[in-house]
Amino acid sequence: MRKKIVAGNWKMNMELAEGLKFAESIDTYFKAKPSKAEVILCTPFIHLPGVSQVVSKGKVMCGGQNCASEPAGAFTGEVSAAMIKSTGAQFVIIGHSERRSYYHEDDAILNKKTKLAISTGLKVIFCCGEVRQERESGSHLNVVRKQLEDGLFNLSPDEFSKVVIAYEPVWAIGTGLTATPEQAQEMHKYIRDLVKVRYGKDAAENLTILYGGSCKPSNAAEIFSKPDVDGGLIGGASLKKEDFCAIVEAI
Ligand code: PEP
Repeated sequence: MRKKIVAGNWKMNMELAEGLKFAESIDTYFKAKPSKAEVILCTPFIHLPGVSQVVSKGKVMCGGQNCASEPAGAFTGEVSAAMIKSTGAQFVIIGHSERRSYYHEDDAILNKKTKLAISTGLKVIFCCGEVRQERESGSHLNVVRKQLEDGLFNLSPDEFSKVVIAYEPVWAIGTGLTATPEQAQEMHKYIRDLVKVRYGKDAAENLTILYGGSCKPSNAAEIFSKPDVDGGLIGGASLKKEDFCAIVEAI
């Protein structure tokens, strides 16, 4: 059975002390009430060493939200995959739509980051998704197929086994608009079918595919009930303990 995962993407929110306190409270909650899903907190870089210390490994894990495309050296302001790994983090998000649009990260760069992160021992949460105009023109499936082909499909089967895919329609991120459970299911099944053709039946069956985009306690259970939706990548609602825990419990 493939893993269920709910990952929180804190984005650029919370200062250090606040973030550590918040992570500790999430950990305490799931220690008392173990969840069926793996819980991952994807925090700003500065929180990672501390969060990794305060969470009980195996119950709540942590990850970065991006990494450098180069392994080390003269790249001022960058943080490498190996540095993220050295904090105790197990995951890194690659290809979030905010990285793609604000920082112009294209599929080639994202592919480089993905391979590098996996080679350091991190697991990658690889984001894909169409913008509103692409959904309206009916090209959403083709857009996501190209993102996966160019960003992921040159990975070896072993590398690919370290990947979680997050389908995040860009028009639903932080907008309050959510894909319907049927729209999410259609895309998740499409992604699983593409993976089956590229990596085979077992890899497709074992792949965890998350939905992201204005997921909240009121809609999570219905979206997660779809057969190809294996959890969520949660932005805004991951900053509120009650909402985040309720979303995890919707699995
Ligand atoms: C995200 O940024 O990955 C995300 C899903 O954000 P939100 O839940 O706020 O739409």
